[in-house]
Amino acid sequence: MPQSMASAAPAPSSPAGTADSERVLATLLGNLEGMVYRCRDDANWTMEFVSDGCQRVTGYAPAELLLNGRVSYEEITHPEDRARVRTSIHTAIAERRRFDIEYRIHHADGRVRWVWERGIAVRDASDRVVALEGIVEDVTARAESELALREAERRYHGLFDNAIEGIFRTTVEGRYLDANPALARIYGFATPAELIETWHDIRAQLYVDPKRREEFMRIVKARGSISGFESQVYRKNGDIIWISENARAVLGDSGHVLYYEGTVEDITERHLYQARIEQQANYDTLTGLANRSLLNDRLEQGILTAASYGARLAVVFIDLDRFKYINDSLGHDVGDRLLQGMAERFKSCIREFDTVARLGGDEFVLLLNGQSGPDSVATMLERVLESVAQPWRHGARDFELTCSVGVALYPDDGSDAAALLKHADSAMYRAKEQGRNNFQFFTDDLNLLMKERFELENNLRRALERGEFELHYQPRVDLATNLVVACEALIRWRLSGGESVSPARFIPVAEETGLIGPIGEWVLRTACAQNKRWQEAGLPPCVVSVNVSPRQFHRDDFIDTLKDVLRDTGLNPAYLELELTENMVMHDGEQMVETLQAIKRLGVHIAVDDFGTGYSSLSYLKRFPVDRLKIDASFVRDIAADTDDAAIVRTIIALGHNLGLKVLAEGVETEAQLAFLKANDCDEMQGYHFSKPVSAWRMRKLLVR
Ligand code: C2E
Ligand code: MG
Ligand code: MG
Repeated sequence: MPQSMASAAPAPSSPAGTADSERVLATLLGNLEGMVYRCRDDANWTMEFVSDGCQRVTGYAPAELLLNGRVSYEEITHPEDRARVRTSIHTAIAERRRFDIEYRIHHADGRVRWVWERGIAVRDASDRVVALEGIVEDVTARAESELALREAERRYHGLFDNAIEGIFRTTVEGRYLDANPALARIYGFATPAELIETWHDIRAQLYVDPKRREEFMRIVKARGSISGFESQVYRKNGDIIWISENARAVLGDSGHVLYYEGTVEDITERHLYQARIEQQANYDTLTGLANRSLLNDRLEQGILTAASYGARLAVVFIDLDRFKYINDSLGHDVGDRLLQGMAERFKSCIREFDTVARLGGDEFVLLLNGQSGPDSVATMLERVLESVAQPWRHGARDFELTCSVGVALYPDDGSDAAALLKHADSAMYRAKEQGRNNFQFFTDDLNLLMKERFELENNLRRALERGEFELHYQPRVDLATNLVVACEALIRWRLSGGESVSPARFIPVAEETGLIGPIGEWVLRTACAQNKRWQEAGLPPCVVSVNVSPRQFHRDDFIDTLKDVLRDTGLNPAYLELELTENMVMHDGEQMVETLQAIKRLGVHIAVDDFGTGYSSLSYLKRFPVDRLKIDASFVRDIAADTDDAAIVRTIIALGHNLGLKVLAEGVETEAQLAFLKANDCDEMQGYHFSKPVSAWRMRKLLVR
């Protein structure tokens, strides 16, 4: 054994002899896990001595390695590590210190092993390195676990740096300990470092509502963690975004919170999307008001609240009067804008905890909470009527609109949403019947009326096929000649039971249900056919005038129907006159002018019925091709006594004549009225004074006379 061995592994000094100590040393070396060696500083690291550990570390017997017997240590060393090993050792030698390196070797069994080598150079008296002495241990197990650890750390860092979610560690006081690039990006910072530096008070700087931070800490404290915690936060530039946080508290040994760690997700897009979906599901797209579905929710909620406070709730049904005409004659764009304008007016009438909803068309519902009774509601509704009645400007024109309003109160008029809405709707119809521009409260007899109306509608549907309609004719007399020159066809409806229903009652229902289409055509056809028969019977020719209702007139096929009827019956169009009410003609839409002109081109006359009751606009009389004004009976009734009415009728006659129109007075019942009309140059009259409306058979007799 080389002498220098003693210096590499100093033997304990002992009283025993050299042989003894060599034996002790040999035993020690033999039992060492590692391989003790002495080698030359040459290209092969030629081994001069190796301990028994050689077998364990390299898999070769000591003899195989000694003096490069079978392999050299250089050969065993992993080719990729050879240069590093040599450099490390030579550097240490040059610096006169121990070397200490880890590298890989090829074990005799073919596997790669990690070894840890420590050693020192041995020099002779002239300071020349004569050998290296040291120990090589197998540290594969440790190296591998370290490697695994490093790998895990690297992977963790990859996750941290590349995650789409923001990751943070923050102190309880609200400072950032750590932030990943995603978090910096979400909050609008260039780097995590900038974020950590800038924001040192999360509570005040991050959360739009600082109370969110307390809420966050409260939940984490109670449950140890938090998930899906959604808040609005500021970005660096002051923008507000929505985030969702998942986090937990990391506790120290004594159970106190060391820090919070967690993730942040930017959910602004999702929030916007949800808001949009919710908007679409609950709000009317045209006006932005609540829609039917939201109204129902609010109504149900309102009922619960009212019930628990013993309060009242008002459900108010609003229908714009004559909206259809504006929509039909001025076009849907204008109609849409009008609805938007009205929506704004309704909103301005209510309090913030009330609701305005649009059910569709021109139907609106107000939900008025916490009402004391009908009186407080009435005050509110007067405001609504007034607000709607303010002129609505479109282009250069002002429109005057009104609305009909029906009210049902909880709990007086119904205990659930459906009943309240239905009853408010019924009350609204009553308001329409009362002449519009008013509000009506629901009453029990209204309920009864609604039932009757429902029956009426059902009967009306079958009236045509059952042949329950008949036309009566009321003569029109020329005031200059006292001759019957025309007659007005008036529909009569006698139910199979014998009861008759006034047209004033069922015509509006026919209008609303659309039944006016077939019924109106039947009237037109019957009147024309009748007139043709009278002429064929050789009676003095007379004009028959037929009432046309708005919905009938606005049908696309109206002109075609008119042509068909004239052709089928063979009546000369000059003996037909159509009566349109003043309100129908009022909207001077181009459409209206065109239709009227088309009628004129056929040779049919046009009269304005109920003149004086509607929204007069003198300009339309000039522009529209009408032939006759029929002064409404309400003005005629008192002409002999009331100076105002007298003045109105005189004015209408003069106006009509100035415009080249004939003027007829309706509802003439007395001699005095007749005298007034004659004195004022009225052209025609119609009324009970001469004759009530009569059957075709009696009309024939009147014509003969
Ligand atoms: P209108 O076109 O103004 O018809 C005149 C109404 O006054 C008729 O009522 C007639 O019977 C009534 N009348 C006539 N002379 C007098 C009088 O001296 N005193 C009083 N108090 N009344 C008189 P009627 O037949 O009940 O019709 C009511 C309304 O129903 C009509 O008013 C018209 O607007 C509508 N109507 C009637 N028949 C038809 C029809 O075939 N089609 C359409 N669309 N509407 C019709
Ligand atoms: Mg008429
Ligand atoms: Mg009339």
